[in-house]
Amino acid sequence: MLDRLASPARDPLWAIASEFGADTRAHKIDLVVGVYRDEHGRTPVMQAVSAAESRLAAQAPSKSYKGLAGHREFNRLMTALLLEPTPAHPRAATLQTVGGTGALRLLADLVAWARPGATLWIGTPGYVNHEPIARAAGLEVRHYPYLGPDGRVDEPAMLSALARARTDDVVVLHGCCHNPSGVDLAPSAWQALARLVSERGLIPLVDMAYLGLGDGVEGDLAGLHLMASQVEQMFVAASCSKNMGLYSERTGCAVVLGRTAAAAASAMAAMEHLARANYSMPPDHGAAVAALVLGDPALHSVWRAELAAMRERIVANREALAAAFAARCDDPRLLALREHRGMFSTLPLQPAQMARLRLEHAVYGTDSGRINIAGLRAGEAARVAEAVLAVV
Ligand code: PMP
Repeated sequence: MLDRLASPARDPLWAIASEFGADTRAHKIDLVVGVYRDEHGRTPVMQAVSAAESRLAAQAPSKSYKGLAGHREFNRLMTALLLEPTPAHPRAATLQTVGGTGALRLLADLVAWARPGATLWIGTPGYVNHEPIARAAGLEVRHYPYLGPDGRVDEPAMLSALARARTDDVVVLHGCCHNPSGVDLAPSAWQALARLVSERGLIPLVDMAYLGLGDGVEGDLAGLHLMASQVEQMFVAASCSKNMGLYSERTGCAVVLGRTAAAAASAMAAMEHLARANYSMPPDHGAAVAALVLGDPALHSVWRAELAAMRERIVANREALAAAFAARCDDPRLLALREHRGMFSTLPLQPAQMARLRLEHAVYGTDSGRINIAGLRAGEAARVAEAVLAVV
């Protein structure tokens, strides 16, 4: 059997990341993998997280099983963080998951369990792993146009594609900091989508992987809150990878809003059942850390300040890169970088041009043109701008 296995295509992102590792040029610049980096190019453990870890180690809590829903206090605090001011809060059920990816997969499994062969709508462009996750769960996938040729959200095209969706179809939306473009939905677009999903009986799935890194925690929640206040049913896949730096701890949660609290409780039971047959229960450490960070007022304010500093660094990098382009060209697609949100922007380059950037200029982004703005270090903006203009 094993000798007949078809080899899956190599993951393009990780292939480029290992190409970067093997490059011996000292001036190489890594804008590939979506992790936050500080001015030294490191992905640090946040101070609030270290303090929570020390406290946990001193308490020496038991490592006994925690139950299928994971860390209950983490689930309660995440639900409050995501939904508290909305009237939907009492109709929510939350299960800790293996990172944001685990939340997406569990929600896809839940949809497939409730309605085998259901359709999940994904925006183009969008996050590369949404479709594989949906297909692995046995869902049908359809695409709606997200960005127009001018690099802005093409609201009419998006709404007219989604007007063809059928009752109970699921629509994936990026809560904030759209991956890969950095172009987020305006409040008016959230409003139009909320109206459309209500009229057509669709269910939004808001992927919230970068909360706090766009317009701050409250600003980044505005679209999700608008949606949660207006629709009957909704899913949220939340990740603590980026905003708490808990990447390798695999910490996240899946939230289901039901029409009633009883419907949410049924969804919770179904998610526990699905998790049991998969990984049984999620790893505890990251959730225990996140629960302390969210629940302890002193740690919470340290975390908020660190998160704000990360966001400000990303904004400063964006401004430096946009200014470097502005000093050399007047291409609106490059100058628009300044208006994007979060870690990513997509350069208007073809895969061959991205390959030239890597080969000739040691500037590494993905073939789709995506660059991680947080990967820029002081003084590198001008070099990146010059390299991009040399291959454009
Ligand atoms: N959704 C989006 C849009 C992402 O960019 C990512 C991370 N690359 C995830 C989900 C998954 O996050 P996690 O690492 O927590 O699984």
